[in-house]
Amino acid sequence: MTTPIYQRTLEKAVSCSGIGLHSGKTVHLTLKPAAVNHGIKFVRKDLPDNPSIPARFNCVVDTSLATVIGSDGVIVSTVEHLMGCLAGLSIDNVIVELDSYEVPVMDGSAGPFTRMILEAGIREFETPRHFFILKEPIELEQDGKFVGAYPDNSFKITCHIEFEHPLIRSQSYTIEVVDHVFEREIASARTFGFLHEVEYMKHYGLARGGSLDNAVVIDENKVLNDEGLRYQDEFVRHKLLDCIGDFSLLGMPILAHIVTRKSGHAFNHAFLERFFNEKASWQTQTLIEPAVVPSKTVKSLAI
Ligand SMILES: [Zn+2]
Repeated sequence: MTTPIYQRTLEKAVSCSGIGLHSGKTVHLTLKPAAVNHGIKFVRKDLPDNPSIPARFNCVVDTSLATVIGSDGVIVSTVEHLMGCLAGLSIDNVIVELDSYEVPVMDGSAGPFTRMILEAGIREFETPRHFFILKEPIELEQDGKFVGAYPDNSFKITCHIEFEHPLIRSQSYTIEVVDHVFEREIASARTFGFLHEVEYMKHYGLARGGSLDNAVVIDENKVLNDEGLRYQDEFVRHKLLDCIGDFSLLGMPILAHIVTRKSGHAFNHAFLERFFNEKASWQTQTLIEPAVVPSKTVKSLAI
């Protein structure tokens, strides 16, 4: 089980189309290979001069229904599943072209994006990746919500959710983001919603594209989708996907064990704010430089 230590991109461009969850409109999306140190950038091909927005923490403009990034009045909404997929596959540099303001929802999971990326192939550069490396834990807790990041030698993430619902209750899931773990265990987990919330959102003109084709919908005691769940704990696996997507907005991979409890996009974002305010708690380095080990004074024993 290993973490890629060199920067990665796609072998070739790949495209797909689907509808935007909130607009209900068809969106075309193309992922293109990008050079080293480019990072992930979203490009609005439908606007004059094709403005681009870096997928980074300081470009997040809204987290109420989805994670929305923006710059100079131009936005791209619902980036979290695609971002989760890119981070889950350890891909650092990509140009994401869109002809609308929303990433297509596809089937409500990262499965379709994962398949198209694996079909395109992954290219590794000779330039090393830079990682955030924690020197000490960073934690944020508020109103029963919690996010903590703990020093570790790989990227691990644990999500814990609690819902007063007989199908969900309390669920936890942990993965180490290495090798094929993401595509096998997380990529296909779909977003979920409660019937009353979906009806409420549609009433107010939101989630226009939302349907049983792109979300697990549950009423008081059952799943309304004919095919049922893809995993018995699909709910927490999807939350984990959302978290990987949100934490990828750090802008670089992190070697840490991130633990979240009852968190969502807004609270994950609040944690990122704390992370960048606690600069003494972390450093950035490649994994081919010698690790910085805190120096200890070794004293010879006086006998
Ligand atoms: Zn989601």
